Amino acid sequence: MKNIDHDPVVLTQSLIKCASITPEDNGVIDCVKSHLESFGCECEVLEFSSENSYNVKNIFASIGGKGKHLAFAGHTDVVPIGDKNSWTHKPFDAEIIDERLYGRGAEDMKSAVACFISATHRFVKKYGENFGGKISFVITNDEEKDAINGTKKIMEWTKTSKIKIDDCIVGEPTANNTVGDKIKIGRRGSTNFYLKIKGVQGHTANSNRAKNPIHFLIKVLQNIMANPLDEGNEHFLPSSLQIATIDVGNTASNVIPETVQVTINIRFNNLHTGQSLNKLLNEKIQAISHNEKNISYSLRQEITGESFLTEPNTLVNIVSEVCENTNGQKVILGTDGGTSDARFIKDYCRVLELGIVNNTLHKVDESVNIKEIQKLENIYYNILKKYFDKN
Ligand SMILES: [Zn+2]
Repeated sequence: MKNIDHDPVVLTQSLIKCASITPEDNGVIDCVKSHLESFGCECEVLEFSSENSYNVKNIFASIGGKGKHLAFAGHTDVVPIGDKNSWTHKPFDAEIIDERLYGRGAEDMKSAVACFISATHRFVKKYGENFGGKISFVITNDEEKDAINGTKKIMEWTKTSKIKIDDCIVGEPTANNTVGDKIKIGRRGSTNFYLKIKGVQGHTANSNRAKNPIHFLIKVLQNIMANPLDEGNEHFLPSSLQIATIDVGNTASNVIPETVQVTINIRFNNLHTGQSLNKLLNEKIQAISHNEKNISYSLRQEITGESFLTEPNTLVNIVSEVCENTNGQKVILGTDGGTSDARFIKDYCRVLELGIVNNTLHKVDESVNIKEIQKLENIYYNILKKYFDKN
C-alpha cells in the first residue's frame, strides 16, 4: 500500500481542494482513483460525452470477489460558489475552524465520498480482499448540472459489462440533526409541462372578431386545479402541482393577445408516473377545448425524474439497525426533497440514501462538523460489517 492518508476528514479536505465545479474535474477524479487503488480497488475511468452536453470523467471501481455485491454511489462535482466575497472561509481551502470543515462540497457531497472510501479501506484492511462479497463505487463528476454523462451512463455501462449490483447506498446528505437520524428510501419524481395556447389576435373593442387565449387558459387551469392529484400515502406526501409561469408578452391594454404560454411543475409520488400525468393533463385540457372554436394548443413535457420507492427490505433493515444502534433512536425513512442520482440506479438494484446532515448545501460557507464526518465513516463501516456478516 502506498503512503496515503485514509482519514475521512483529511480525504474530504483533499477533495474540496480540487475546485470541481461541474463539469470541471481539477484532479478530483484522480484523487479518488489514487485512494481507491492504494488499497487494491480496480478502477475504471469512464469518460462519457454526447452532442448535447459537456464531456465528463467518472469512475467505477470494485474490490472483492464472489458473493453479495454492495455499491456506494456519489458525485464529486459541486455547484458554483456564487459571489466569492460573501464567503468568510475560502471555498476551496478546506479550512477547519472550531471543529467545522468549510468549503464548497463539504456537505454535498465530498464528505460522504471520503467516508465510504475510508470505511471500505478500513473494512478491507481488517477482513482482507476475500471478505466474501464485492464492494463497488459509482462516482460521477456530473450530478449538479446536466447529469447526462454521469450515473445514468455508468449504470448502463455496468449492464453491458455484465456487472450485477445487488444493493446501493447513495451518499447524498439525508440527516436532519445528526448522521443516521434519517435515510431516504425513495424520491418524488419531477416533470415540467409547457402548454402553449393560440387564439386569434384582435382589438379589445372588437372581441367578436378575436379569440382570447387567456380566457381559455383560465378555464383549463381551473379544471386542472379543481382536485388534488392525490392524498399521499404511507411513504409519500401528496403530489404537488405548481404553475410556475404564465407568459403573454403583451404590453398593450387594447390588444387581445394571440398566444399564452404556461409552465407547470409537478412533484409527484409513486401513485403517478410521468406518462400517467401526461395523459391526465391532456384529458383535462381536452375536456375544455372540445367545444371551443379558434383555439389550438400544444403540450410539451419534460420528465426530469420518475418517482421511486424502495420497499423496506434487507438493505433498509441493515442500514436502519446500524443507525439505530449508533443514535439510540428510530430512523426516519424519508422520501422528501428534490431528485437525486438514485433515480438512475433504482432500475438496476435496491437503493437508498444515507449521508451527512443536510443544512448548508449549495450555500455560502458550506460546512460540516468533523465529528459528523467521523460518525458517517463509522456508520458506513458498520453497515459493511453487517452486510457481509462480520459480526
Ligand atoms: Zn449532491
